[in-house]
Amino acid sequence: MATISQNIQQVRERIAAACARAGRPVESVTLLAVSKTFDADCVRQAHAAGLTRFGENYVQEAVHKIEALGDLRDRLEWHLIGPLQSNKTRVVAERFDWVHSVDRPKIAERLSAQRPEGLPPLQVCLQVNISGEATKSGLAPHEVSEVARAVARLPGLRLRGLMAIPEPTGDLEAQRRPHRALRELWQRLREEGLPLDTLSIGMSQDLEAAILEGATLVRVGTAIFGRREVLRG
Ligand SMILES: *Cc1c(COP(=O)(O)O)cnc(C)c1O
Repeated sequence: MATISQNIQQVRERIAAACARAGRPVESVTLLAVSKTFDADCVRQAHAAGLTRFGENYVQEAVHKIEALGDLRDRLEWHLIGPLQSNKTRVVAERFDWVHSVDRPKIAERLSAQRPEGLPPLQVCLQVNISGEATKSGLAPHEVSEVARAVARLPGLRLRGLMAIPEPTGDLEAQRRPHRALRELWQRLREEGLPLDTLSIGMSQDLEAAILEGATLVRVGTAIFGRREVLRG
């Protein structure tokens, strides 16, 4: 079996190839390692191989890991990418550096009020339901501009961009479509004057499509840590 370090090397090569194809500098894409269901030791290995940004879906699991890796706290950035309920906002405001999954003004207001004074602003992306599935979380595209404006005004938060999780599909052209739709929305908001710099799209299966459409941050789990055996909610 390949090691985490070898997997990271391969992911870096995929990112570099996609950037070359897109005519983009490789530094324009940030790699977020999605460590959900993998233990603190796996995160340590990934950090030893050069990664510093980690994405988690489940608040409780993440808090255990953040504590177990307390010795590295100043060198790691923790990103919440999973759904966030309002009863969990306080611990998220206190422990995380980024939240990609803000999909309601109320969640943003709570995070803003609960972000401790001594910490830098919590970096925030709005999650958009770009493929329009009824079951998925995320703002409808037509709601995003108004919510973005409101979130941009909240103290303790810094609005950075948009995030989406398009339906999985195998074909590159089909993968590019929702990514392109999100990038177009992101560009419109930038033209409206919102200072967005982050487009959080692309996972293990579709990071090439996302980079071709302008992803600035890809969230990669399986291709780094291997298949997740246990799915937890
Ligand atoms: C699990 C997850 C990922 C990583 O998915 P892989 O296919 O394992 O790379 C990325 N983003 C979100 C929101 C996730 O929940």
